[in-house]
Amino acid sequence: MSPEDFRRHGHAVVDWIADYLGGVETHPVLSRVAPGSIRDALPTSPPTHAESVETMLADLDRVIMPGITHWQSPNFFAYFPCNASGPSILGEMLSAGLGIQGMLWATSPACTELETHVLDWLVEMLDLPTFFRSDGEGGGVIQDTASSATLCALLAARDRATGWRSNEHGLTGGPPLVAYASTEAHSSMEKAMAIAGLGRANLRLVEVDERFAMRPQALAERIAADRADGRLPIFCCANIGSTSSTAIDPLGPIGEVCRREGMWLHVDAAMCGTAALCPEFRWIHKGIEHADSYCFNPHKWMFVNFDCDCFWVRNRADLVRTLSVLPEYLRNEATASGKVVDYRDWQIPLGRRFRALKLWMTIRHYGVAGLQRAIRDHVSWARWFADRVRDDDRFELVVEPPASLVCFRLRSSDDANERMLAALNATGELMLSHTRLEGRYTLRFSVGATLATKGHVERAWRAIESAATGIG
Ligand SMILES: *Cc1c(COP(=O)(O)O)cnc(C)c1O
Repeated sequence: MSPEDFRRHGHAVVDWIADYLGGVETHPVLSRVAPGSIRDALPTSPPTHAESVETMLADLDRVIMPGITHWQSPNFFAYFPCNASGPSILGEMLSAGLGIQGMLWATSPACTELETHVLDWLVEMLDLPTFFRSDGEGGGVIQDTASSATLCALLAARDRATGWRSNEHGLTGGPPLVAYASTEAHSSMEKAMAIAGLGRANLRLVEVDERFAMRPQALAERIAADRADGRLPIFCCANIGSTSSTAIDPLGPIGEVCRREGMWLHVDAAMCGTAALCPEFRWIHKGIEHADSYCFNPHKWMFVNFDCDCFWVRNRADLVRTLSVLPEYLRNEATASGKVVDYRDWQIPLGRRFRALKLWMTIRHYGVAGLQRAIRDHVSWARWFADRVRDDDRFELVVEPPASLVCFRLRSSDDANERMLAALNATGELMLSHTRLEGRYTLRFSVGATLATKGHVERAWRAIESAATGIG
């Protein structure tokens, strides 16, 4: 494809995206296709001869679009948002256009330096401890997802706890290593235990309180029991915004336990970290000074399209020692000088995308004040929705919403709640998801789509009210 042809097709693709976002509300939010139907519409074998972009775009509309669930719809209230934005999409396009691979500083200095710089900006924006900044012993890096951040933190904690013997010789000899998270922690913690060779069975799920936040006392008791059994506690993952209900684990008391026990404290703020852009929500980070590492996902609630997780460590030497490699073919003068950051040593894969561009462009487009305004809107609309639930005898609020997610249910059986959710999502007019809290089926109404307005939230409430009438 010549640069001139690319220009022509590129304009068509931008038009396509702009039309899509402009009309995203016209699609049923949840895709209605049956399993296998997209593949059935595709040719069995790949084309022998070149095909035109026009044909491909026509097939995008005809074959692919029916199988899309519209995460960018303002009527998408399921899971957590994955809220893209114009400036972020443009940043993603530029990253693809440059086509660089940023494994080393030397393989594109701007890729590394912009990333370090924007992550220092974010320390200021979220009012995180200054030890996370790159000008001290810490520093930030962009990971694909929070799952990877948690895994990297666990690996560094594992190696630090064994004096880096595990890094060299594997986990031979020594006591079993154990890690802790609450019963509400994200499933990525369990996966990380399996991948890190620590074993799923060595993850302790600590009891939570009536707001689904970890009980520090229960954590201390679990640790004491493990020590009594000859195990070595090494790691605790605290959630700032659990996945089911955005519960906020108390970092102060948890951090004190971790410090006393010599354990690594990782803070997973995937969804709710973004709220700390606003001073009035910074209480969620109370006690953060105890953290060894922290992550949040701009790809959830900060208008940066997937994927973009920001991950900071208090002491970058721990992470780099755990993950660094230096084969001959990657040796270069800049690395040898010790004056540069090589992000291949801060993550699992070697290669890496230029993700900082979309983050930088998004922050510059909105400005900190614009981002704060959006977060405040989302939280206030969620509170409005929670008030409607509270005022309606047919429903109950399962827990006071700390941020932009409302967990609620019909005062009825699990089955009735499940049927109501299915009925709502089948209308195509909106989409919610569910979880289980205290063993009971619970509906999740999560605000945060880029295109959402108060009006969309009001319409969603009306739809939910009438669905409740239908279920009876
Ligand atoms: C969403 C979420 C994750 C997983 O996010 P990925 O970035 O997709 O790995 C991890 N932890 C918490 C608390 C989450 O809410």
